[in-house]
Amino acid sequence: MNPALSELERLFPPGRFLVKPGELAPYESDALTAFRARPLAVVLPESHEEVVAAVRWCAKHQIPYVARGSGTSLSGGSLPIDGGLLIGLNRMNKLLRLDAKERLAVVQPGFINLQVSNAAAPYGLYYAPDPSSQPVSTIGGNLAFNSGGAHCLKYGMTSNHVLAARVVLPDGETIELGSESLENTGPDWLGLFVGSEGLLGIATEITLRLLPKPETYHTVLAAYDSLEKAGEAVAAVVASGLLPGAMEIMDSLAIEAAEAAVKAGYPLEARALLIVELEGETPQVEAEAQYLEEVIQKSGAYEVRVAQNADERMKIWKGRKAAFSAVGRLSPDYIVQDGVVPRSRLGQALAEIEQLSARYGLRVANVFHAGDGNLHPLILYNGRVEGELQRAEELAGEILKLCVALGGSITGEHGVGMEKKSYMTEMFSEDDLDAMQRIRQALDPWALSNRGKMFPGEAPALRFHGAHPLEKAGVISRE
Ligand SMILES: Cc1cc2nc3c(=O)[nH]c(=O)nc-3n(C[C@H](O)[C@H](O)[C@H](O)COP(=O)(O)OP(=O)(O)OC[C@H]3O[C@@H](n4cnc5c(N)ncnc54)[C@H](O)[C@@H]3O)c2cc1C
Repeated sequence: MNPALSELERLFPPGRFLVKPGELAPYESDALTAFRARPLAVVLPESHEEVVAAVRWCAKHQIPYVARGSGTSLSGGSLPIDGGLLIGLNRMNKLLRLDAKERLAVVQPGFINLQVSNAAAPYGLYYAPDPSSQPVSTIGGNLAFNSGGAHCLKYGMTSNHVLAARVVLPDGETIELGSESLENTGPDWLGLFVGSEGLLGIATEITLRLLPKPETYHTVLAAYDSLEKAGEAVAAVVASGLLPGAMEIMDSLAIEAAEAAVKAGYPLEARALLIVELEGETPQVEAEAQYLEEVIQKSGAYEVRVAQNADERMKIWKGRKAAFSAVGRLSPDYIVQDGVVPRSRLGQALAEIEQLSARYGLRVANVFHAGDGNLHPLILYNGRVEGELQRAEELAGEILKLCVALGGSITGEHGVGMEKKSYMTEMFSEDDLDAMQRIRQALDPWALSNRGKMFPGEAPALRFHGAHPLEKAGVISRE
């Protein structure tokens, strides 16, 4: 072992310092399995001080590193850097404090998103950002990707719910960003850090805002004979002045997959399903529900179902939440794309994606946060067929360009990571990118922290097709 690694080994006890090929294998890719890289080593800190020690070691030896939560990034954001250090934060998974009176929770970065709401539930509170990966993704990963979810239409993304963070900068210095209050003085450094994809440092303690749980929900499932109509219905609901808690769309492929996986009772012949959920105090929700019914009827839905109780509501959501992984049943491989269009252009965007899918001869399933205009086309391909991965990537790129051309963005919530860095130039000018680089260089002149991600022009990772290492090892499956 080289002397630098021996030094690192002395900092971390056995079991928390991994260098053997078998130990490194589970960390070689994240949820974007088309990219793979082998880290030099993995360390699993259990405290802020251990994160500082690992980062200082990297700075001293000029070794690039990446922080990793649960590795569910869909853009290769938590992909290791070839020959770099991977700092796995899953063991820093404690709830440090829950202050129901102040409506906040202080957690370690490896604390799981869903656990925040579970811990807050006895106080009538919850944590609003709800990525579909909420049972597994960590608050640290959510913060770095400014994650969103179904309910971000009404409540905003992670950035609207992080009050403060303790951060280890790339030189090992610790800084405190934000405060427990919503009011802050000076520049919004915390705002800069949230969504910076692990490029500016590692969060080791995060303070989250909790909200009172809504009293009532009114959940509607509307079926359409075209995807375009469902997209236009979203614009109509928003134009009506209503602000639902969530609005989600699934197309026929996503419906088929979700049905096969969890039997949510969706109408199988529908070309598109729209889920709209109102939430709040009972009298308000009742009044809004009547108005919503009028809007949905006018939007051309051929079948409308309203959840009559909590079980029916959960069933509707179970199908939606399972749809992503269920699509794995329809195809050996798929790329999940993440782009945004203005809501008023949703219908047009979906129609154009259908045309692109036909042109490329690849099936595209759509399941997405329609209320935010946040598209998630899933491009199905077979990596064993020569050239199909490449075609899938080209199609994914066309969709991103379409989003930008329609006035949207190349990412809604999955980050830029490794996958979309070459599309940054579609959205940002050289000056914009230069300004971002200068901020990064001020904090990390050696570009050690998550090197090779987000900015165009840096070394690409190795490519392969097939299963995630954990799938190969039989630890997880797509069933
Ligand atoms: C089935 C499925 C459904 C999904 N649905 C959604 C969805 O609805 N909405 C959504 O937003 N995302 C979704 N995602 C993507 C993913 O779950 C989120 O981006 C999530 O926030 C990643 O969390 P993680 O703990 O897995 O982070 P990782 O994948 O481990 O890391 C993600 C990024 O965060 C950085 N990072 C991790 N921890 C820290 C830290 N403490 N400090 C600084 N940087 C850090 C990493 O370096 C990396 O750049 C989904 C993924 C899957 C597989």
